[in-house]
Amino acid sequence: MKLDTHIANDKYLSDVLNKSEFERDDITYLLELSDKNDIQLLYKKADEVRKEFCGDEVHLRGIIEFSNFCEQDCVYCGLRKSNDKLERYRLSVDEIIDTAKKIYSAGIKTVVLQSGEDSHYTKEDITHIIKAIKDSCDVAITLSLGERSFDEYDEWKTAGADRYLLKHETANEKIYSALHSKQKLEERLAHLKYLKSIGFQAGSGNIIGLPKQTIEDIADDILLCKELDCDMCSFSPFIPSPETPLKNISPADLKLTLKTMAVGRIVLKNAHIPATTALSTLTPEGRKLGLTVGANVIMPNFTPDEYKDKYRIYANKKTYDPIKYVEELKKMINSMGRKVSEDKGHSLKKNI
Ligand code: SAM
Repeated sequence: MKLDTHIANDKYLSDVLNKSEFERDDITYLLELSDKNDIQLLYKKADEVRKEFCGDEVHLRGIIEFSNFCEQDCVYCGLRKSNDKLERYRLSVDEIIDTAKKIYSAGIKTVVLQSGEDSHYTKEDITHIIKAIKDSCDVAITLSLGERSFDEYDEWKTAGADRYLLKHETANEKIYSALHSKQKLEERLAHLKYLKSIGFQAGSGNIIGLPKQTIEDIADDILLCKELDCDMCSFSPFIPSPETPLKNISPADLKLTLKTMAVGRIVLKNAHIPATTALSTLTPEGRKLGLTVGANVIMPNFTPDEYKDKYRIYANKKTYDPIKYVEELKKMINSMGRKVSEDKGHSLKKNI
């Protein structure tokens, strides 16, 4: 490349990185960066934005995967109801509450309750669980139960739940419909908007590396998170599950995943962004890498040992002893000049 062209390109990259508002073209340009030095500049900028808008604290959220029963049939997910190779489990209400207490005893101030879409747990069951956890532990509660009724969301908010995580998965309506036989993107977004309107801190996000997904689609995912004013956004890599129709699709590209997280941080500024379990499944250094490209959240898994292996969303999901893992995480976070947050890590958006 000629020197003049090189200087012009560097200036263009620097101009885009320093914008405060981003068009779709800016985002696709950043996601398509391929030069090693340019990508390093992108990561550096994402880390600076993370520091300016979120500080150095890393928020730990203890997750309990309390049921792998699912009434949906998402083509990419190992929990899909058509997967008859998966041994199904449900934690009892008491087991869920006891596990939440373990999370609190480990010094973690957010409990994430996640499951497949499983109406076996009634509105009243979930209300009881929320109240019992809130009565005995000073924690924030995030629900991630899939699409439930608006009436249930109302009741769970009143019972004390703080956040709801419901990823939009892909902003491309055609891809969404191809992957979800019954669900519609429009419906998913209506749920997210409703959750936000009644005061939940709302989390959304995408899967990177879905069949037929383009860079423009990923740019739209980031812009959709901005439009929804999400308090938390998860950009996580697709990992094939051998028990699904997408078993022969390659896992997401690591570099594209990290670039998406970095661009997500630069565009979304103060949204919480996790370094996901899927990222650490893609590469053992995933969590650390994620924290260097804009992430400020990690979700250690506290699902009891006897069930952990059965929450098989995808293959080779990492399992570990959560107490030891949290200690290792703290060391890693400190060694990066960051610190583990001691508070609940609520949304950084001003309206909360
Ligand atoms: N049922 C709830 C819902 O629909 O939001 C929560 C459970 S669902 C298993 C949690 C997340 O797993 C989904 O939002 C999806 O992004 C992710 N997931 C499922 N299969 C995946 C795969 N093969 N690779 C990466 N992520 C996957």
